Amino acid sequence: MSNLNRLPAKNYAYRGPIMHAFSRDDVRFLADGGLLVDAAGTIVNCDDWQAVKSLVTANGFEVVQLSPQNLLVPGFVDAHVHLPQMAVAGCQAENLLSWLETHIFAEESRFADDSYAQSVSEWFFKALLANGTTLAAVFLTSHPSASQIAFETAQRLGNRVVMGQNLMDVNAPASLLRSAPQLLAETEALCQNWHGQADGRLQYAWVPRFALTSSEALLSGIGALRQKYPDVYLHTHLSEQLTEIEAVKGQFPWAEDYTAVYERFGLLGGRTILAHGIHLSDDELTRLQGLDASLAHCPGSNFFLKSGRFRLMEVLNRQLRLGLGSDVGAGPELSLFKVMKDAQYMQADTLIPLKTLFYLATLGGAIALDQQNRLGNFEPGKEADFLILDLSAKSCLNSQKVNKQANQAKRLLSTLIYQGDDRLVEATYICGQLVYRRPIA
Ligand SMILES: [Zn+2]
Repeated sequence: MSNLNRLPAKNYAYRGPIMHAFSRDDVRFLADGGLLVDAAGTIVNCDDWQAVKSLVTANGFEVVQLSPQNLLVPGFVDAHVHLPQMAVAGCQAENLLSWLETHIFAEESRFADDSYAQSVSEWFFKALLANGTTLAAVFLTSHPSASQIAFETAQRLGNRVVMGQNLMDVNAPASLLRSAPQLLAETEALCQNWHGQADGRLQYAWVPRFALTSSEALLSGIGALRQKYPDVYLHTHLSEQLTEIEAVKGQFPWAEDYTAVYERFGLLGGRTILAHGIHLSDDELTRLQGLDASLAHCPGSNFFLKSGRFRLMEVLNRQLRLGLGSDVGAGPELSLFKVMKDAQYMQADTLIPLKTLFYLATLGGAIALDQQNRLGNFEPGKEADFLILDLSAKSCLNSQKVNKQANQAKRLLSTLIYQGDDRLVEATYICGQLVYRRPIA
């Protein structure tokens, strides 16, 4: 849809099967549940229908009765994705550095053209909503004008994002490079325009691409911005491939490891999102945990670029904050259903609990992006970001599988993770507002 299809401002009670996570071991299923959302888009309650029925009647909630094929879940969180790579997703290359040179930098250069930036921004933000992604940590290009367009588009379409201009001043084509002072001034201006806008749906991030495309002057300047704006995010890549790590050693010979480059300039903290982190040493993991930085695991991308195997259970057991990322375009698809499945398949010897995968795609992602007080499940007081799934939308998912008995919840979750995709997303809501409805076939 081209505009936010604003619902009339009143209270709604969604009645039907509901699933949401409270921790990685605690996913609750309500066979006949009620999600109560007030006119401001805030969750009033979520419980068995019998438990909330009197509240619905007493407060004049309008009841939205879901069908037996529906399932209501929190919106998905994509903890790492690149808007300007939509058109080159699925373009193979030998490794990370050759992929950047062969496919990515040429495509990102096209965003100097505002009309191209506008068309891809529309495509990207609509596609996020159609895939059920209600919060995304988004990389842009180094063009301030294209970055402005991306924020305007996200604001208009109702997306929730953590996003910022990509900052590169070395080791990329001239068309994408800018000087450190210029980048720092541009990104600060964008931050002042957009951070916290749209009732907090739009959050700004400082986004150095990775260590290799950053001079020390740039990293130092970003560190100063972090001190000036302590609630602004930092989003970058870390320790994705062995060849990349070798190159980082060459460029920053004083650093004991890759993490130390970001540490030195004060880039790591509670609002830092680090994509990948595949080849981190135990010492680096310990330091990241001590600094409360988050990791974004992108298994589809890791398969695609043959980056290596992320130590998923070890990171979880260390209590590091962790989200799942599609990493489009190194990841081929935006769907968090696919990312959950890939995260399972990536661990060759370990079965990842289904609850853990669902938690990572919802509440875990919200925690990784420091938005757990607003999002991630249906606790009262949070903002109502949710999906209405239609489990009959894939031919392999028949009504027999959509059993409303609570003891079938595990089977339902398994089916969703192994067979789900964007076809299941019937409607997407952010802060109680409908932002996507699947076209009628
Ligand atoms: Zn990435």
